[in-house]
Amino acid sequence: MKVHEYQARQMFADHGVPVPNGEIATTSSEAYEIAERFNKPVMVKAQVLVGGRGKAGGVKYAENAEAAQVLATKIIDMDIKGETVHKVLISEAVDILSESYVGIILDRATQKPVIMVSSAGGVDIEEVADKTPEKIFKEYVDPVVGLQAYQARNLAYKLFKDIGQVRQGADILMKLYQTFWDVDASLVEINPLVTVPGGKVLAIDAKVNIDDNALYRQKEIEAMRDLAAEEPAEIKAREADLSFVKLDGSIGCIVNGAGLAMTTMDLVKRYGGEPANFLDIGGSSNPQKVVAAMDIILSDPNVRSILINIFGGITRCDDVASGIVEAFKQLKPSIPVVVRLTGTNEKEGKKILASVKLPSADTLDNVVKKAIELAG
Ligand code: GDP
Ligand code: MN
Repeated sequence: MKVHEYQARQMFADHGVPVPNGEIATTSSEAYEIAERFNKPVMVKAQVLVGGRGKAGGVKYAENAEAAQVLATKIIDMDIKGETVHKVLISEAVDILSESYVGIILDRATQKPVIMVSSAGGVDIEEVADKTPEKIFKEYVDPVVGLQAYQARNLAYKLFKDIGQVRQGADILMKLYQTFWDVDASLVEINPLVTVPGGKVLAIDAKVNIDDNALYRQKEIEAMRDLAAEEPAEIKAREADLSFVKLDGSIGCIVNGAGLAMTTMDLVKRYGGEPANFLDIGGSSNPQKVVAAMDIILSDPNVRSILINIFGGITRCDDVASGIVEAFKQLKPSIPVVVRLTGTNEKEGKKILASVKLPSADTLDNVVKKAIELAG
């Protein structure tokens, strides 16, 4: 789950990471009031969950409260990569002398958090990683003992020459790691971490992604979920307890098990199709889940055929078949649905399915080809 910059900033501030003063405005007159209270130049920053707001025109400098109001008028309701801006952060502007990058993610290969820093900050860090990977420095953290002070210092020396700034940098890294740990983040990022006249180091951007699997114990954070910024289909899927990711293709996929779902998508691509989604109905095969899955997929106008691939284990084919029949009754799909049903209670399942008219196909490969062919 992603949170907005202002929320991520609050998490940083709660852990002692220095950030500029800022407040949220939902109207341009609020923006004016906040900027007037600060009584100095401010940044007007669109709060959207997508990156690269600056380049998209969503981060602007305002000399005074009047300018902040004009800019807020422009930025509120602006569309940034498909997301509408509802809030702007009015943040005290700082003079920037240098910009660096600091990020922490979970490295799956080593099963450890990895801290990455680069003095080439501010810009697109993916590009730095791609073209000049030698400019990125890393430290892997043993999760049992946490980030060690010497590791934080090693990294801080890569960013700063001034010893005072090295100390501040190391301190910020320790606090950032604590934030990462405490909020169950899958990613925390400061881009840029800046130095200002007088020598202070501070975070002027903040990004935090929370591990969805930890939300059950991060109730306060879960309550921050911004439904307005999420795909309606993904909200529905979460409510139905389905793992679902919307994609841009035309072949809707309903599969049991994450691995089989990935394999199914691979096959769709191999035979020249594009999956419309990832969807795992999970282990237990409540027929209602199949109905919910069909409903979600049918609401996507790009979908031109649906591919159902079930390998019955704990999931029983007859339950899934009942779900499919029920979905046909309730939703009356006007696009072709191709089904592969094999494993536990396969015979019973196929009997149930006989009551709906489905294109026939046998092996997994053929079922996938059929779904693509029928999508046209
Ligand atoms: P992003 O585009 O979503 O990453 O948003 P950022 O918060 O990182 O802002 C984009 C860019 O705007 C930064 O890299 C800075 O160059 C610039 N910027 C943001 N805040 C300030 C500020 O307080 N002062 C100055 N001079 N520039 C800023
Ligand atoms: Mn940034």
